[in-house]
Amino acid sequence: MAEQPIDGWFTEIFDRQGSAISLKVKEKLHDVTSPYQHLEVYATETYGNLMVLDGCVMLTDRDNFLYHEMMSHPALFTHADPKHVVIIGGGDCGTLREVLKHPGVERVTQIDIDEEVTKAAARFFPTLTESNNDPRADLKFEDGVKWVDNCADESIDVMIIDSTDPVGPAEGLFKTDFLKRCHRILKKGGVMVQQSESPLYHTDSIIRELREDMEKAGFDSVATLPFPQPTYPSGWWSCTLAGKACDVKQFREQDAEQASFALEYYSATLHKSALVLPPFMKRLLER
Ligand code: SAM
Repeated sequence: MAEQPIDGWFTEIFDRQGSAISLKVKEKLHDVTSPYQHLEVYATETYGNLMVLDGCVMLTDRDNFLYHEMMSHPALFTHADPKHVVIIGGGDCGTLREVLKHPGVERVTQIDIDEEVTKAAARFFPTLTESNNDPRADLKFEDGVKWVDNCADESIDVMIIDSTDPVGPAEGLFKTDFLKRCHRILKKGGVMVQQSESPLYHTDSIIRELREDMEKAGFDSVATLPFPQPTYPSGWWSCTLAGKACDVKQFREQDAEQASFALEYYSATLHKSALVLPPFMKRLLER
């Protein structure tokens, strides 16, 4: 639920949870309504620029590295040899930039429904889009559900579902049918990862249902990795990995330790610790 800035504060209210996040803003930099969503960009006092879609915080300069590194590196270091990666959503291009850091990746196809998000990212978050001209990157602007429908069987190594919340244009990305199609287009040994909302607010709902749906879709292993995300509901977020003939509780630990590129949050040790679920999540997920 959105609120216009009041006395210089942007506030997103999580009504059902009786909580909210507020950021002190200096000015509104951008406001556009696309056929899919309402996009705003603000300059904040202490978090750099802030992107908001339909009233929900998408990212800030200050803390987006947490989300983007966790949406990419755990999945890429879990796959034995990722070459063709697909990102559904991800229009701000932060996840794309992280994926392209892996030298073995040969092709990344990103499908976001809304070109306005990528245009705004290029203008207001230029560090996130700095790898968009990499010859391995292919940016498409169409519905990710339709793109997956038309994709050949067993042709992709890693799929990253970097979507908005499961309402509006992203609703279809959380359905069992969509997960079945993702399973179909992944090669054996393939890995998918989906942003899976807050461990505090959604373990007993969205996270549990997503994991069950992934199993129903044919994936033979699942793992939910929690990580901090200060500007999302509850300040705590998660991604859920699923493997097709691949155990997503194992990863290329030595390769992660020796990563040749700069990282701010992800590390091999962090990955290992993120695979350990807190007892309350274990209890709710194993019921
Ligand atoms: N970090 C964010 C979060 O968890 O709130 C998600 C970031 S990313 C900007 C989400 C993107 O998903 C948006 O750019 C939106 O346009 C895209 N999206 C939503 N539904 C989609 C669909 N059906 N196909 C492709 N992209 C979609």
